[in-house]
Amino acid sequence: MSNSDKKRVQSATLSPDKVMHKLVSLAKRRGFIFPSSEIYEGLSSCFDYGPLGSEMKRNIKELWWNSMTRRHQNIVGLDASIMMNPRVWEASGHVASFNDPMIDDKTTKRRYRADHLIENYIEKLRRDGKEADLKRVQSTYEAATSSEDLNRALYELILAEGIKAADTGSGDWTEVRQFNLMFQCNMGALAERSSVVYLRPETAQGIFVNFHNVRESSRMKVPFGIAQIGKAFRNEIVKGNFIFRMVEFEQMEMQYFVKPGTQAEAFEAWREERFAWYSSTLGINKEKLHWYKHDKLAHYADLAYDIKFEFPFGIEEIEGIHSRTDFDLKQHQEYSGKNMEYIDQLTNERYIPYVVETSAGCDRLFLALLADAYTEDTVDGDERVVLKLSPRVAPVKAAVLPLMKKGGMGERASALCDELSSNFLVQYDDAGSIGKRYRRQDEIGTPFCITVDHQSLEENTVTVRYRDTAAQERMDISRVREFLASQLIGQ
Ligand code: ATP
Repeated sequence: MSNSDKKRVQSATLSPDKVMHKLVSLAKRRGFIFPSSEIYEGLSSCFDYGPLGSEMKRNIKELWWNSMTRRHQNIVGLDASIMMNPRVWEASGHVASFNDPMIDDKTTKRRYRADHLIENYIEKLRRDGKEADLKRVQSTYEAATSSEDLNRALYELILAEGIKAADTGSGDWTEVRQFNLMFQCNMGALAERSSVVYLRPETAQGIFVNFHNVRESSRMKVPFGIAQIGKAFRNEIVKGNFIFRMVEFEQMEMQYFVKPGTQAEAFEAWREERFAWYSSTLGINKEKLHWYKHDKLAHYADLAYDIKFEFPFGIEEIEGIHSRTDFDLKQHQEYSGKNMEYIDQLTNERYIPYVVETSAGCDRLFLALLADAYTEDTVDGDERVVLKLSPRVAPVKAAVLPLMKKGGMGERASALCDELSSNFLVQYDDAGSIGKRYRRQDEIGTPFCITVDHQSLEENTVTVRYRDTAAQERMDISRVREFLASQLIGQ
């Protein structure tokens, strides 16, 4: 690249609340994400992925799938059904206790998660350096979570500390109530108790109940993993923040079955690998990724960490890594009456494997990628919006643009586009000035613009413009396919 091709690119600084507003608007305008059933005023926390969004989501899922099943000989895939025998959810504990504590504000009529109100309050005390208050509230909260009357204990803590809602400043609280997050529906013609089925609230149970099917059919030996991508449904009390918290969302989960006693080692290896994946494969800025260790563990876990991302609205979870012990397989053994043990062929040892789970949310990750990529800058004084997505994640890999439609450039560009489209999603665009066409592609994150100009017809060359630097490079047409392929190779 010659120096004369270098452009002066200067990034603007954006306030976080403005970024969310701009992202939502860009996502709709350019066909990433639409509100669901919008012509009927939509449905709370449900969204549709548009033409570009569905491409980008497929890329994310494929990158995850490949990083699990292609890069690990001992991990295989599964696509279990969303509805399962309701006994599954009794065994897993979801019917009895997949609850969130909810509290209402009588004045503002807003609904909140009581645990979130307290946790945010604790975070604020920590930030403000109020050590004595922090210790007191933390220990009361810990005692409350293991109290017989959890609802009462949370309620009393909120009142005693005078905790208010951060968004309204109000604190006119009702009592705390437990709310089960599972969606129920009726199977068959009769709305009887026996016909109640649930929409799965997590994909993991489909993996546990298929443990022996997968192990036997694929001749897997412990340690091995089962990976699955699929929809999950939760009737969330507090919705919102665009696609961050939805009622219908997609999970990318992997359960890794290990010999009891070796779970800590497997946990550490997966913790490292999953954290690195976000920057090495997806190109997310490492600085915006954080670890959070759970002090308060779910009933099935002996260790749990979350990978969190700095969203414009705060640092929030995108993936959970949990050491789930042998809880789930044991429960299914008890409830189904089927033996869930594994027999080690070499040593003849029998045991119920322990499980290390990696559980990522595809939609939250999608939002993290958009937020990380959204940039406003000026190129040689011209303002633009650009999504600095990794080429692997970007929905459109390249745009092929004739400098002018006439003079044979349109035909040449369109032939190149056809040629590339068997391997990559490419777009042909001849409408408007070249500058406008670059801006359209910048805004949807297309990493390369390939321009066919006069010289192209004489020398069989094109210019390749790099999205982030706006620098251009001339290249032989025959090299373009190889060039694009080289930009998409991942770790
Ligand atoms: P949160 O505390 O934010 O409700 P969680 O701890 O209940 O999340 P998990 O049960 O560990 O979440 O689910 C694994 C992943 O699934 C999460 O890290 C997240 O990315 C995704 N996820 C969970 N609930 C939702 C939701 N309502 N909308 C979108 N993604 C979700």
